[in-house]
Amino acid sequence: MAERECGFAPLVFRLHGGAPQVVREVLLERGWDEYDEEEQEEGDWNLYWRASGFRKSDYENILPWQRLNHHPKMSQITRKDCLARHMRRMKIAFGTALYDFSPAAFILPNEYTKFLGVYTRNRMTDRGKSRYWICKPVDLSRGRGIFLFEDIKDLVYDSSVIVQRYISNPLLISGYKFDLRIYVCVKSFSPLVIYMHQEGLVRFATEKYTLASLESLYSHLTNTSINKFGMCYATDKERVGRGCKWTMSRFRSFLHKQDINELLLWHRISNIVTLTLLTAVPCVPSNPNCLELLGFDILIDASYKPWLLEVNYSPALPLDCPADVSVKKGLISDIIDLMNYRMVDSFRQKGYCRQRSGSRYLRPKISQGVLLPKTLHATPLGNKNRNQSISNSSSSQDTSVNVCASNDIGYVTWPIHSNSKSIGHEKAPQKFEDINDEVESDGLKLTTFNSTRQSHRNAPSTVCKLPSLHVHKLKSPAVPWNSMTQDRGIPPCRVGDFILTFPFNEATWKASQDQADVKAIVNEVHKLTNRLASSFSEKERKKMESGQSIGVRDKFEPLLWGPKDPPLLSKCCSLNSEVK
Ligand code: ADP
Repeated sequence: MAERECGFAPLVFRLHGGAPQVVREVLLERGWDEYDEEEQEEGDWNLYWRASGFRKSDYENILPWQRLNHHPKMSQITRKDCLARHMRRMKIAFGTALYDFSPAAFILPNEYTKFLGVYTRNRMTDRGKSRYWICKPVDLSRGRGIFLFEDIKDLVYDSSVIVQRYISNPLLISGYKFDLRIYVCVKSFSPLVIYMHQEGLVRFATEKYTLASLESLYSHLTNTSINKFGMCYATDKERVGRGCKWTMSRFRSFLHKQDINELLLWHRISNIVTLTLLTAVPCVPSNPNCLELLGFDILIDASYKPWLLEVNYSPALPLDCPADVSVKKGLISDIIDLMNYRMVDSFRQKGYCRQRSGSRYLRPKISQGVLLPKTLHATPLGNKNRNQSISNSSSSQDTSVNVCASNDIGYVTWPIHSNSKSIGHEKAPQKFEDINDEVESDGLKLTTFNSTRQSHRNAPSTVCKLPSLHVHKLKSPAVPWNSMTQDRGIPPCRVGDFILTFPFNEATWKASQDQADVKAIVNEVHKLTNRLASSFSEKERKKMESGQSIGVRDKFEPLLWGPKDPPLLSKCCSLNSEVK
């Protein structure tokens, strides 16, 4: 792809054993090379993708041009027992009203007595009305070991499990239960930056839903790994069709036909994602060169209330059916764009290799223990051939394309000296001189640049400036955030089909810096929720339809899902008071 076509050294990916094949496929299609352990050295790769977690030393030894596909400590929300514990803590701290999206859960055997108390109380108060529970091993996935029960005498377990209230009134499509697999990318935990993918999957049970038979896993569980073995998997099921998956787009057109207020639903889901990730913020150390792809499982009940079932670490990415192909390939491609690689990443890597082999080309000073640049906070190149890949039209986009967040290293997107013509969409950074000062002082020069890019073909003496490796040389801006040069550092609102869902305004951006102010963020989510709920009154909706309700177009332009061109939250309700 771009790099290779243009003569740049290809970026290099490294896959660990269980890493999904689709990642390899997409990266090769994009012109990347696969890392060869025999031939290459540790510093030679740009992306290391593992299905399982990394070792501590992988985080410690990471080099500025490298990325890992996991943050450390993610089990805090991806293990069922940890999630249950965090949810309970947040309910106590911020109220059950805000954290009411998580079904009550008990971790057994430790909390057996607590569960017994609730179970018994429910039995007495519900007077014969049934309550159902679902029991799940804490550290298994894909539906393994799960069963439902109504009577406590049927609760049998021999490992650590969680017992969760069973949502027994799910929304059904032609009698079939389904849940949503929402793909979420946490680009950074400090500051917290969350993207939700607009495409996703709807996973159906393959037998009609009935509470008369709790044993039928094909009726109660929506895991593909279970349903693909169901008798009805291949049959053409009423409305659902063959197989057990829809793309999210198909689900959304279904909602439109039902005349359902989609926007409110996505807003609630986006809140669930933010409020869930907030629980992990204090536990996850800042690691700017990592990002995380998570699979949120959301169940919608008959009253259109979304519930969080669980958060999946390394969500399954096999391409089992056409829906998988259309969703997952795009998803991986968008993730790569979010990783924000630049030409300098492959330069640096090559220079590093040459340095090791004694060449004088490039001598980055790599000292042990230096802070790494917050590379992932900058805006990606958007190197897919999709014009609207980064579609934020505000000026914030232009600025952040080139310069990282204020406390980041000042990365130059385009590594050629400013008197070279900029190419394509890569513009010169606003603070180019400042960055060059840093770069020069670091003495990083690439004296030969073997590019086939038209503008540089005949410029053998072009000096390529690489970003400084020493982040401490960059001064933090003394000016307050909102008076800094434009919207420096604000993440782009959209990258491919990834939509920025957090931060969603200036207050949340500020509150998520450094030591995130969880309380302030929760407060903002609360305020936004209230405002949205009230704005969905009939009057407001009419205004919107007639195009009168134009809120302030904020630099964040928080998005909710719309068709391919999502409506802005600021258009869904009047945000005048919300975004200063
Ligand atoms: P796993 O990690 O094994 O997939 P999940 O928690 O995702 O475990 O549960 C598997 C499936 O069981 C879900 O996809 C959903 O269909 C169903 N399920 C899980 N928890 C509940 C619940 N509380 N209420 C209703 N259905 C549930």
